[in-house]
Amino acid sequence: MPRKKTSYSLPSTITVGGMQFKIVLKDMEDFGEMDFDKKVIYIRKGLTQEEELDTLIHEVHHVALGISGLSNIMDDENTEEALVRIVDYLVMPIVKQEYKRFIQGK
Ligand SMILES: [Zn+2]
Repeated sequence: MPRKKTSYSLPSTITVGGMQFKIVLKDMEDFGEMDFDKKVIYIRKGLTQEEELDTLIHEVHHVALGISGLSNIMDDENTEEALVRIVDYLVMPIVKQEYKRFIQGK
């Protein structure tokens, strides 16, 4: 049986901790951007499906830090970015790998 081709498309909105954020594709240099006050997550146009997913997870992490109030406590964009990158590069690859094994029943 041929393997089903992976097809992912970004949702138009995402709800984090009961707060709904609009997802908007945008021509921009960064992969993603999040406007907490406007409740919008911007994703760069033209990314691959996996880059879109990774960028969405990254921006959702910023949203979670914003909702929790940790963004305010840190009050430092570089510290927050480093914290989010720990998840991007050290946690998410394992989540993806193990979730794939989980849904395949291995
Ligand atoms: Zn970031």
